[in-house]
Amino acid sequence: MKTYKIAAIPGDGIGTEVISAGVDVLHALAARDGNFALEVEDFDWGGDYYKRHGRMMPENGRDLIRNHDAILFGSAGHPDIPDHVTLWGLRLAICQPFDQYANVRPTRVLAGITSPLRKVDRTELDWVIVRENSEGEYAGVGGRVHQGLPLEAATDVSIMTRAGVERIMRFAFRLAQSRPRKLLTVVTKSNAQRHAMVMWDEIAGQIAAEFPDVTWDKMLVDAMTMRMVMKPESIDTVVATNLHADILSDLAAALAGSLGIAPTANLNPERDFPSMFEPIHGSAFDIMGKGIANPIGTFWSAVMMLEHLGEPQAAKRLMTAIERVTADHRFHTPDLGGTARTADVTEAVIAAIQGAND
Ligand code: ATP
Repeated sequence: MKTYKIAAIPGDGIGTEVISAGVDVLHALAARDGNFALEVEDFDWGGDYYKRHGRMMPENGRDLIRNHDAILFGSAGHPDIPDHVTLWGLRLAICQPFDQYANVRPTRVLAGITSPLRKVDRTELDWVIVRENSEGEYAGVGGRVHQGLPLEAATDVSIMTRAGVERIMRFAFRLAQSRPRKLLTVVTKSNAQRHAMVMWDEIAGQIAAEFPDVTWDKMLVDAMTMRMVMKPESIDTVVATNLHADILSDLAAALAGSLGIAPTANLNPERDFPSMFEPIHGSAFDIMGKGIANPIGTFWSAVMMLEHLGEPQAAKRLMTAIERVTADHRFHTPDLGGTARTADVTEAVIAAIQGAND
């Protein structure tokens, strides 16, 4: 029997609540399936760790998780610590050195969930957004001089490389090709940004030639926000830069019903390093400790993790259990307009896993 070593990094805020729910569900799934086992190791890194140690994770942190099969991440942040410190100190400190360059964000209106978009139904909103996750606007290149003086200057330089753009385009075209509609939208801003984004467009055209069966189009990011709202059915797979996709995927999550549902996978497709799976929401300090965080985004992220580990049957069983539960309004948390608690949803998903015959 295969045993997968999972590094759980719950982080801060509701991250701790949803990851412990996710781990319970994964254990229930492994017990039900019988084909694989999970060894989950917890790492207490994040904002609270920073308060104690002055850094978000230990200096050898990456070495400690380097040989795990996958990472399940909650959210990192602290009301007293600037967001750029928490982001660069943990999430990006793992994503970038582990070369998790493909950030995959599926969006669907799950059974029982109502989209705020009028008239949209489950068949009309079924997207996957691929976010370039290693360079672009998040390259970390820039600086600040003369701080506090009138002549203070600051730059954040977006870096795009041919190798980086080619690999994410190829990943996105391949993903689009694997989906029934074989449809890809390349998001750009090459009207205003006339160097890197023009290269981005050119490379998209070059890679497209390798995938003649994929229909693709190009869309400016501003126009894309309108299209997501006005014509959601015209979209299937989307590829965008680090920053553009970050913004578009929050919109996508809201259109699918709640930020609390949306999952994401930070993939190192070559499997040289472990990949990381996390709900897209943040630490949500406004609801922390109340027991009402929606754990579905974490459960769906666990589905993506199982797919990546090569356990498609368990992944499918978990996704079916999730949708069986979301279909029942008694198990909707307050973000979905219900009164259910994190524990109610978790217990219901575990019961659905245990009862499922498929
Ligand atoms: P960060 O800066 O870490 O992204 P944030 O608090 O700015 O965190 P989110 O944590 O993403 O942003 O939360 C935005 C809003 O969505 C909050 O009002 C929060 O309560 C709500 N929210 C986010 N995730 C969930 C969830 N899993 N369940 C319920 N509500 C959620």
